[in-house]
Formats: sequence, structure tokens, C-alpha cells
Amino acid sequence: MAKFKKIVIPANGEKITVSEGKLVVPDKPIIAFIEGDGTGPDIWKASKKVFDAAVKKAFNGKKEIAWMEIYAGEKALSVYGKNKWLPDETVEAIREYNVAIKGPLTTPIGGGIRSLNVALRQLLDLYACVRPVKYYTGVPSPMKRPQDVNIVLFRENTEDVYSGIEFKSGTKEVSDLIKYINKKYDKNIRKDSGVGIKPISSFGSKRLVKKAIEYAIANNRKSVTLVHKGNIMKFTEGAFKEWGYEIAKEEFRDFIVTEDELYKSFKGKMPEGKILIKDRIADSMFQQMLLRPSEYDVVATPNLNGDYLSDAAAAQVGGLGIAPGANISYTTAIFEATHGTAPKYAGLDKVNPGSVILSGVMMFEYIGWNKVGKLIENALKKTIKSKVVTYDFARQMKGAKQVSTSRFAAEIIKNM
Ligand code: NAP
Repeated sequence: MAKFKKIVIPANGEKITVSEGKLVVPDKPIIAFIEGDGTGPDIWKASKKVFDAAVKKAFNGKKEIAWMEIYAGEKALSVYGKNKWLPDETVEAIREYNVAIKGPLTTPIGGGIRSLNVALRQLLDLYACVRPVKYYTGVPSPMKRPQDVNIVLFRENTEDVYSGIEFKSGTKEVSDLIKYINKKYDKNIRKDSGVGIKPISSFGSKRLVKKAIEYAIANNRKSVTLVHKGNIMKFTEGAFKEWGYEIAKEEFRDFIVTEDELYKSFKGKMPEGKILIKDRIADSMFQQMLLRPSEYDVVATPNLNGDYLSDAAAAQVGGLGIAPGANISYTTAIFEATHGTAPKYAGLDKVNPGSVILSGVMMFEYIGWNKVGKLIENALKKTIKSKVVTYDFARQMKGAKQVSTSRFAAEIIKNM
């Protein structure tokens, strides 16, 4: 009997497996994809061509991706039927095949799902949202020196005020809760308040910071900054910072120096080959990102700070149109566009596929096919520099040639 009802497992591919916590990638790995809603199909079609061309070029046809379509969003409704926005077998397939890439998905209205992206993160425990933010020459940016921005942001994905533990003002639940807290802990929460809970755990903080430090080590990065609001929220955001330093010292002692140690033991001069662990208060970090972005490299932060900071940082280098992202668990990862479905442009072959293409670059690095990632990234850089771009960039660039989604992809392939 077939394993899945609707998903067709490619006969020519092999599963990416995990051994001792590391991915084992065959020559024809099966990678799951969700094309996405709205402009998703246009973007996906263009991106896939770029991916396949780069793999072919990098390995002379000796390796190739066996793409496996899985379904979520509006396409899932047409394949599986009413209310099946996120079929169980989609989640199962990602869990089993470890690596997936997706276009943007419509957020269902009604039907009990707040957001498909949030549901995927929770069901697969994709605890780290990873967003690299760097500048590509020629992209219109509001900054004087956007080239100074080159950070990789690790945002905690499962805790904080995003955990969905909220009680509406005026309900019995909230009234009981307020009475209990006010009486038991001698507090003074107003009776007509809504209340949300902000859990931040040692477990959740440490595994996120650990991932960020591992990334910094593997990619020769210089620093990891813990961004928090611990001066006010001492036992949640402040604890995040403390736990971050703890895991850095416990597990990476030979690789790191903290900012305190830098001044106490090294007279402020960074010892060769070490990674600096520092922390910044969130509001100050927003200023720092604008004023002295070159001092920041890898950033690790709780959920809400990360949400704001990643979009603000992306704006510094030209916006979400080409901002890539990934949601990663211990070994399972979904790479995704960070923008939405832009429904008004659906089917027009118009929007920028850069976000999914650069998410693909992250994916190739993740499976160890760095050569492929480099080919794509360099060709994309060259294409933007030559001012052959989609409408979103063209409208802000002098002398640009505006092309369609598919033409932009073809140009990238030509420039590889
Ligand atoms: P959106 O789809 O991101 O679109 C907002 C605007 O951003 C577009 O009108 C367009 O600007 C620009 N834009 C977005 N993608 C672009 C691209 N690839 N190339 C060039 N420009 C692009 O946000 P939305 O309209 O608020 O949301 C639409 C749907 O997407 C909603 O259902 C929302 O919930 C969902 N959503 C999904 C994700 C996800 O799956 N990761 C993320 C966010 C939102 P101009 O109008 O100026 O041309």
C-alpha cells in the first residue's frame, strides 16, 4: 500500500537521513516542496529552474534533486478537500524527509488555524527561525552604507508571547486568573485587562543560542549577540541572556570569549580565532543596527524581538522582496519566502522570486552543497548589478530593465 494518499514519492530519489545528529545526503536527495498560494506558483516555477540549473552546473549531472510535491494552503484544499489546509501527511513527509522548501501561504480565515506557518513550526518543533540579512549591490536601500549590514538572525520560534496563552478581557478565565495573581502575589492587575503569558525557558533559550553559536563556528563568524529586554523583564528576557552565556561557557568554552572577559583578561583585544559573545538590550540594538551595523554578526533573540528585528534589518538592505528564511529544528528544516502571497499579482509572472531563490541558497548550504549555493548567489548578484530586475526593484532603480519573474530567473541562469 502506498505510504501517502496524495504525495508521490519520486522513484529516482533517495531519502536524506540523519546519523549521529548530522544529515546524510545522497546524490539524488528527495526534497519536499510546497509551491505556495497567490504568487507562489509563479515564484516556485522560476526558482526551481534556477535550482536545477545550478545543481547541474555544479556537479555535471552527477547529482540532482528529486523534488517531491507536498501540499498546504489553497492547493491542499483542492487536492484533499474542504478544510484540509495542512494535511497530516504533509507534516509527516517533512518529518520523514527532513528538508523542505516552501513558497508563501495564505493565512486561512476561520477553520481553527491561526496561521499555517505557525502550525508547521509548532507541529515540527522548528525552534529556530534563521534569517540572513545582507546587501546585494544595486538593491535600492534607505541606508547610506547598506553594505555594512551582514547579520544572521536566530529568532526563538516556540516560546515568548507567541505561545498563544492569552485570556480575553471580561471572560471568566481572565477574571479568575487576575483574582488569583492579585491575591496570592499581592499585585494590582486591572480587572478589565486581557492577559497574555510570556514563558521563556532555560531549555528553549539554550537550544536556540546553541544553534546560533554552532552556526557562528561553522561559518567563521566573529560574534554572537544576545538581544533581550532583560533590564525590564528580568526573569524572562533577562534569563534568556543569562542562559545564553551559560550555554556558551558550558559547551563552547574553547571557542568563545565573553565581552566581560575581553576587557578583564584580554585588554579589549580579541584573541585570534575566537567568537565574541555579547549582549544588547533590544531598544538599543535597533539603534546599533542603524548606526554601527558592521559590529554585529550572528544575533540570537527571543521570539517577539526577533520578529521586529528581522523585518527592520531586512528593510535596511532593501526589504522583504529578497529576504530569505528558514525554520529549523534539530535536523528538520523548512526554507521559506519571508513575504506573503501578494495575491493581487497572482498568475501575472511579475513578482520578485529572490526570497525563495535565496532561501534555496540557504537550503543548499544546509545540505552541504555549498558550491550550488555560491553559484546561485553569485549569479543573482550579477543579475541585480546589471539592473535586470523585477518591477519592485525597477521602480526604485535608475536605468533598470524591468523583467518578469520567469525572465529574471532565466537571466540568473544565464549569469551562472
Ligand atoms: P504580502 O503578500 O507580503 O504583500 C505585501 C506587498 O509586499 C505586496 O503587495 C508587494 O508590494 C510586496 N511583495 C510581496 N511579495 C513580493 C515579491 N515576491 N516581489 C515583490 N514585491 C512583493 O503581504 P500581505 O498582502 O499582507 O499578505 C497576503 C497573504 O500572505 C495573507 O494571507 C498573509 O497572511 C500571507 N502571508 C504569508 C506569509 C508566509 O507564508 N510566509 C508571510 C506573510 C504573509 P507592492 O504592492 O508595493 O508591489
